[in-house]
Amino acid sequence: MSQSGKGRLNYRCPSCFMRDLDIDMFYDKDRDEYYCLRCQYTGNEKDVLEKNEMARFRYRNMLKRITTFD
Ligand SMILES: [Zn+2]
Repeated sequence: MSQSGKGRLNYRCPSCFMRDLDIDMFYDKDRDEYYCLRCQYTGNEKDVLEKNEMARFRYRNMLKRITTFD
């Protein structure tokens, strides 16, 4: 079912995304983890997905807060 080698999907690094950087992570199949070359973030798929959700949520709130100025 699951292929080894490259990650099934390209995941964006949640840590970089918080800083407004859109960085694709690499997949380490030996450790079954994704990692980011830019900020040293590592995490398994579940962790990445959770953090990405959080990042999106926060980011949206930030945008929302900015729009309330007017
Ligand atoms: Zn990163």
